Amino acid sequence: MSERLVSVALPVALDRGFTYAVPASWPSAPEPGARVLVPFANRGLVGVVRAAPPERLNGARIKLLEEVLDPPGAPSLTPELARLCEWVADYYVAPVGEVYRLALPGLLTGHDVRRVMLSEAGAQALTAAREVVLQPVDDAGLPTAAEQRVLAALASAPGGELAVERLIDLRPRIPGVLRLIGDLAAKELCTISWDEAGGEGARVEAHYRRTDYLRGAATAEETLREHIGRSKQRRALLDLLEGAGSWVPAGELRGPFPGYKKLLEPLIAAGLVGVEERLRALDPFAAETIEPSLPQAPTADQAAALATLRGDLAAGKFAASLLHGVTGSGKTEVYLQLIADARARGGGAIVLVPEIALTPQLSDRFRARFGETVAVLHSGLTPRQRLDAWQQIRMGARPIVIGARSAVFAPVPDLKVIVVDEEHDGSFKQEEGVRYSARDVALVRARDASAVALLGSATPALETYESARSGKLRWLRMTTRPTTRPLPDVELVSLAMHRPDPETLLTGRLRTALVETVAAGEQAIVFLNRRGFATTLLCDRCGALHHCPDCSAPAMTYHLGRNRLMCHWCGYIEAPPERCVECGEGELLHGNAGTERIELALAKDVPGARVLRLDRDTSRGKGLLETLAQFRRREADILVGTQMLSKGHDFPGVTLVGILQGDHGLGLPDIRASERTFQLLTQVAGRAGRGDRPGRVLIQAYGIKNPAIAFAAEHDFEAFAAWELDKRRELHNPPFGHLALVRISGPDQVAVQRRAEELAVVIRAAAEEVRRKHAEEPGSAEAPPPLQLLGPKASLIERVNRRVRWQMLIRASSRPPLRWLLRQLRPRLGEAGSGEFKTMANVDVDPQSLI
Ligand code: ADP
Ligand code: ZN
Repeated sequence: MSERLVSVALPVALDRGFTYAVPASWPSAPEPGARVLVPFANRGLVGVVRAAPPERLNGARIKLLEEVLDPPGAPSLTPELARLCEWVADYYVAPVGEVYRLALPGLLTGHDVRRVMLSEAGAQALTAAREVVLQPVDDAGLPTAAEQRVLAALASAPGGELAVERLIDLRPRIPGVLRLIGDLAAKELCTISWDEAGGEGARVEAHYRRTDYLRGAATAEETLREHIGRSKQRRALLDLLEGAGSWVPAGELRGPFPGYKKLLEPLIAAGLVGVEERLRALDPFAAETIEPSLPQAPTADQAAALATLRGDLAAGKFAASLLHGVTGSGKTEVYLQLIADARARGGGAIVLVPEIALTPQLSDRFRARFGETVAVLHSGLTPRQRLDAWQQIRMGARPIVIGARSAVFAPVPDLKVIVVDEEHDGSFKQEEGVRYSARDVALVRARDASAVALLGSATPALETYESARSGKLRWLRMTTRPTTRPLPDVELVSLAMHRPDPETLLTGRLRTALVETVAAGEQAIVFLNRRGFATTLLCDRCGALHHCPDCSAPAMTYHLGRNRLMCHWCGYIEAPPERCVECGEGELLHGNAGTERIELALAKDVPGARVLRLDRDTSRGKGLLETLAQFRRREADILVGTQMLSKGHDFPGVTLVGILQGDHGLGLPDIRASERTFQLLTQVAGRAGRGDRPGRVLIQAYGIKNPAIAFAAEHDFEAFAAWELDKRRELHNPPFGHLALVRISGPDQVAVQRRAEELAVVIRAAAEEVRRKHAEEPGSAEAPPPLQLLGPKASLIERVNRRVRWQMLIRASSRPPLRWLLRQLRPRLGEAGSGEFKTMANVDVDPQSLI
């Protein structure tokens, strides 16, 4: 009989599946999506059986699978999700193991971090079973011989407890030991807990805080450096603790600093950081109860959209629509009523939203309508909470899932609806690791599941808009608001004509408007797309800027609250020098103002104004929610912030929105610079006048005639889109062409450049082959070349974190030749070379940003 082989996705960065053989004694091969334990590099790793045929490896010895960890017929990943993973790995040219890792909670793959404990009942059962051996009786209900061996191993372990990884050592003696502990746990003869995230009912977790500040004096920079060493991570971690000013739970450190325990060790030993077991914080979203809400009688626009969508749902076939509605037109109510319909048909739904932590209001609206059937997936969940949520979703206990991009992989049974809210938002594209677009994956998943896909936006991405115009997506429009509130009036103020105050960046017009608003007891939002106290520190003698030592990026940003210079590219943090490091004499002056400085200046400049600030520095986890809640409770008059403020917040008290520099970002050499600016201005402007009083918006900008700004001021999406699409068509840029960006990086400039040239040779040869084939087709003379290579060249910021970065852009007139080319390129990507000449190459398919 021929050997049965399967391909397994393992959580390692190599771009391939790994082939294993099914032991001859197993009646059948494990099904795709099932988790398996396999030997890998002298240890046991948990991986997933792929929904793809195994690679035949010539000559290599094929190892045997050790165990299947999922019960037969119930693989962890459904076949539907396993297929989706294969599509993502192929389309985005992403390592298959990393893709499967996106789809499963971290605790289910990789190393088994669980611990097993003998229970009281287990100990009794073991004793009873031993007595039976001496005096045989009816043994119904007693543990089997194999189970007894597991119980005995536990009983002889210290404390009656073993790490699952140690149990694996028993496999030669007790085959199937991992399945056995599952059975034993089900009979309550043992309990299983997750080591890392604390036991099942664990109420406490380690908390950390910076302690030297408690004693009054900050530790001198030299002493700090001694304990920090060269680790940027350690410095950043210490700064985070300092910034928090209070106890920070381990759960919050684990995400940003996976190695936080090791990083903290020397700091704790040096007395800079204290550690204490404290009560575990509750999931901030699950804590409060919410007033239930009832469906609202739909407006004519809403009713028309719903009628179409309900028809799609009833047909039970894949259908995709763009819900194109002005801000406040009631798109969310459409989602809610559509999902209610899907529920009535016994189906489930996924709602993807940008950065869920920023918009608790939105998930609250779903919980108010659907109560306990909603699972909210957000980045603040601990690994254990994430697993809990995943299991509840998988069981069907929570058929409605709301989350950021990775929720597109949520194991919702009988999926009938996928909504992508604010579908144009850049956060749906993951920019590292697996570079996928959750919006596009959502469409693929919906097609495979015969579900209804709904993309909602007031300012659709031009790709989506063009698909709607050309009929690939159904175009549902909502042009009116259910309330009588009109869209706010927008006034443009030319910064070229009206000089802004250097401290506040306010022109006279905007200052007057702010003063009036605050005097009238109303609220205002002031928006600046730049965080930090000042973007630069500038020498008053020689004019030198203070740069990051590891990057060629523009100067570092000064953060006043923490008195630190920070590189926003690589995370490097340092205390500001006393004098200019270039000339050694000059004093350092503050350059362009950032949000932090505006906050202080406004508080001084606008009489009686209470000012709050919201940006990535002020808003870790609960701090963010608290700031938003404070502003909504009207405990402040002005909120200063970055683009975080553009996301769907609803502040009824806000009647004025001021944008300090509308054209910031327009100058970037990026094909989406205009589109981003238009979207941002439209969204921010949409924050004004959501209460009973009409709102107004003031946009300060140098280029007030630029269409991205002028059309945003007129709320005219279609005019903007027509103008921008003309430009895109001319250059064969998306949506009229398709892009893939190849990035090459490494510590050595020459090695990086050489690798880029080598890849370019491969790409040019493939492009030439496609061109020759293409030239034989009729009508090809006028058409653009099927594949074009632009570059290679150094990236805009050539050095980041001591790595040199090069890039080249592949532009294709249609998808098939691009996908063919990428498959040719695939085996040549990844790491190459060694030591300091090591280089990394990867591809970003449908890149959002070319910088
Ligand atoms: P969008 O998601 O398009 O920005 P929302 O769904 O947030 O719009 O709706 C804006 C406001 O209008 C909300 O306060 C919502 O409660 C209200 N609203 C939506 N639909 C209706 C309706 N049919 N009747 C009355 N009010 C509605
Ligand atoms: Zn840097």
